[in-house]
Amino acid sequence: MQPPESYDDPRTMLAASAREFYRRGWMLGTAGNLSARLPDHSFWITASGRPKDLLTEADFVRLDASGRVLEAADGRRPSAEAAIHQVLYRHFAEARWVFHVHSVEANLCGHFARDGALRLPPLEMLKGLGVAEAEPEVFLPVFPNFVEVAAIAAAMDEAFTRQRPRVPGVLIHRHGLTAWGSDAHAARHHLELLEYCFRYLVQARSLALGE
Ligand SMILES: [Zn+2]
Repeated sequence: MQPPESYDDPRTMLAASAREFYRRGWMLGTAGNLSARLPDHSFWITASGRPKDLLTEADFVRLDASGRVLEAADGRRPSAEAAIHQVLYRHFAEARWVFHVHSVEANLCGHFARDGALRLPPLEMLKGLGVAEAEPEVFLPVFPNFVEVAAIAAAMDEAFTRQRPRVPGVLIHRHGLTAWGSDAHAARHHLELLEYCFRYLVQARSLALGE
């Protein structure tokens, strides 16, 4: 019997995405992690400590929804931040791909947040994040960067139980951005649009535009 959805292996696309994000300076020094969920709710995620411009199929680990290792080559360990991906997959049914990167602009923008939220600039670009208002007031959730990843994941779990984020992304202060989508292209677009907002905010502040 055919599976109800494609079980196409996402590792080639994950590796290509990592190379692209590395080239942009968003995954330097082995930083960041990317994952893709399969129809059985297991997910492939980048292995810990691997250079993101040189990933091969062996540099991914498959975990079940509770984080248990199902497949791993050569003793590879999953990203230390896999617990964050688990929380996102658990809360958002439409999240099939999750991209987490560490850009300079994301880390600067964390300082502009107030009460755990960063107001995104009211730009046309927000339409790509599902916001189609003339003067949108949209806030991106910002979480503290606890030393224990489990504490970050728990904070997200608690926050998402209370309120669903308006846009498909979250920022961890002094750490980086995570964005998700229903396929690789959607997740990448969301990541790019939020990073665009971050670059805009940093430049607007440096020009004292007050946004
Ligand atoms: Zn990270």
